[in-house]
Amino acid sequence: MAVLLLAEVNNGELALDATAKAVTAAKALGDVTVLAAGASAAAAGEAAAKIDGVAKVLVAEDASLGHRLAEPTAALIVSLAGDFDHIVAPATTDAKNVMPRVAALLDVMVISDATEVVDADTFVRPIYAGNAMQTVKSNDAKKVITFRTSTFDAAGEGGSAAVESIGAADNPGLSEWVEDKVAESDRPELTSAGVVVSGGRGVGSEEDFALIEKLADKLGAAVGASRAAVDSGYAPNDLQVGQTGKVVAPELYIAVGISGAIQHLAGMKDSKIIVAINKDEEAPIFQVADFGLVADLFDAVPALTDAV
Ligand SMILES: Cc1cc2nc3c(=O)[nH]c(=O)nc-3n(C[C@H](O)[C@H](O)[C@H](O)COP(=O)(O)OP(=O)(O)OC[C@H]3O[C@@H](n4cnc5c(N)ncnc54)[C@H](O)[C@@H]3O)c2cc1C
Repeated sequence: MAVLLLAEVNNGELALDATAKAVTAAKALGDVTVLAAGASAAAAGEAAAKIDGVAKVLVAEDASLGHRLAEPTAALIVSLAGDFDHIVAPATTDAKNVMPRVAALLDVMVISDATEVVDADTFVRPIYAGNAMQTVKSNDAKKVITFRTSTFDAAGEGGSAAVESIGAADNPGLSEWVEDKVAESDRPELTSAGVVVSGGRGVGSEEDFALIEKLADKLGAAVGASRAAVDSGYAPNDLQVGQTGKVVAPELYIAVGISGAIQHLAGMKDSKIIVAINKDEEAPIFQVADFGLVADLFDAVPALTDAV
């Protein structure tokens, strides 16, 4: 079986963690060809060639593939699809934009957020916000799949795959880049951070969200937020963790003033160690927490920050 894996490329650089985790999942299906696409993608392609288990790398560099426009990338993948049985990607924000388009253009289903490869046709994926796992068997001739990276270990380095340059497909011209507004942050990226400190509605205001950021900075952690905190304007929405936000599985997740709704748990319950700080001892977050502190966060968080 031949697998085409869309690498996660950000500003010309390979997002190694997400890509290497998807390689682990894809290796179980057959020979893995990685596609590194972007306005600049050569360095990403070279980095992908070193991932253990990658058989070949295709590098497509073209202005049309820059700025994260999904349509030209989907058109490129479809132009390559004839040679592959499986077309896969890590379930990142970008890939979630590209892969359903690929599936639609190929007239097949997309199997999103797969957490296990059972065999070449059969995959496990979460449904109902992660409260049930569904085993799906696809009869489609080509399978289009995104893999939930938090459940796979990253493939190691040590590969030396051949790298080939290819051209872009015709740009369907369905979208045009206008501008990016990017939040600058020195903190680690939320989905690959080893430690995440998240604040919820209990934090109470945008000003007090600084308490969460201060603790995170002391721990070298990424900052996350519940949807209630985001909807209340305490934190920007790219920090949202959960069913409709990001899925994280850090070594340590600290939930502060978060009740533990199932939609939030869907995004963090695979974290290795969960610490919850909440003044309500009945809060559902304590059911998944390894360590729980029943306390007022306005006392506990500054004390913890000082102690660190
Ligand atoms: C379709 C759908 C998708 C959703 N997707 C998401 C998602 O992706 N992510 C997400 O997070 N939610 C999501 N939600 C919303 C979810 O259902 C909850 O409403 C939300 O998670 C609640 O956020 P919260 O825990 O911050 O707020 P609350 O539930 O209001 O909890 C606040 C907590 O703070 C505690 N608290 C208050 N003051 C203090 C204090 N001084 N000290 C200590 N603790 C204190 C309270 O005891 C309480 O437990 C979704 C909902 C739907 C319907």
